[in-house]
Amino acid sequence: MAEPYLGNPGRTSEILRKYNISAKKKYGQNFLIDAGALEGIIEAAGVTKDDFVLEIGPGIGTLTQYLAARARKVCAVEIDRSLLPILEDTLNDWDNVEVVPGDILKTDIGEIAERENGGRPIKVVANLPYYITTPIILGLFESRAPMESMTVMVQKEVADRMQAGPGSKIYGALSLVVQYHSEPRIDFIVHPNSFLPQPGVDSAVVTLKRHRQPPVEVKDEKLLFDLIRASFNQRRKKLSNGIANFAGFSFSRGEAEEALKRAGVSPTIRGEALDLGQFAKIADTLYEIRAEKQQ
Ligand code: SAM
Repeated sequence: MAEPYLGNPGRTSEILRKYNISAKKKYGQNFLIDAGALEGIIEAAGVTKDDFVLEIGPGIGTLTQYLAARARKVCAVEIDRSLLPILEDTLNDWDNVEVVPGDILKTDIGEIAERENGGRPIKVVANLPYYITTPIILGLFESRAPMESMTVMVQKEVADRMQAGPGSKIYGALSLVVQYHSEPRIDFIVHPNSFLPQPGVDSAVVTLKRHRQPPVEVKDEKLLFDLIRASFNQRRKKLSNGIANFAGFSFSRGEAEEALKRAGVSPTIRGEALDLGQFAKIADTLYEIRAEKQQ
């Protein structure tokens, strides 16, 4: 099996020059040029010959080479069609890679997992484009595609938010939704000089290990996610106001206060003080109140 040869500044610049290509900011293109970071990603993801890996944004094929050398099969979805001839060149030594041209946000991951992995859970591994990190991660969770884990490079600040808990300034909707679906773990921090061009921020590789069962059970998942959104839309306000003002709901302030009371939570509480279990309780009392109104 061929060994990866990209992942250093010399080879990366050479490829870009050969194809007369420069990194596109609008697609969040920051190519990895650090073999240590690339090895670290593979290790954090625990990629083995049994795995089918979905990569988001192969770029010029750097991480893809490392994945192809370790996994059974890699499927890499790339939006920038001008990179396709480069990928054909750089991935030529591996016969277990499929490049799928397209936008990951519009790609049917469930269908790929079914076709390529017999519906068994896949691993997602990527150096993500930072301009759409959150939609990609939340989209993958919501897609319900069978997924074991995601090991992704993100801005360090985003990785910190995923891990944050109640009371922290950076705790918010992303923390709660990520922790509902998975157990986040920061694997290591990556300095801007590991990329070409260098991003303006520090990065982190984070692994989100999907829960078999969510840590809390609710009657209506959408209601829980709407409640989380409502409470952090107006972060500085009392949660009862956030619920009453949220356009996706039709609860009065009195009903919101009643839901908090039934859930055993202070009527003046702010969302940032509540943990996932408390949000789940409130979502269920709102569900009850909505059902009572409809009777
Ligand atoms: N994997 C390469 C590496 O590590 O060197 C490139 C990573 S670069 C940070 C992000 C990649 O995602 C780019 O190749 C970019 O074109 C691609 N990309 C951006 N938006 C995308 C989208 N919506 N769907 C699929 N790929 C996308």
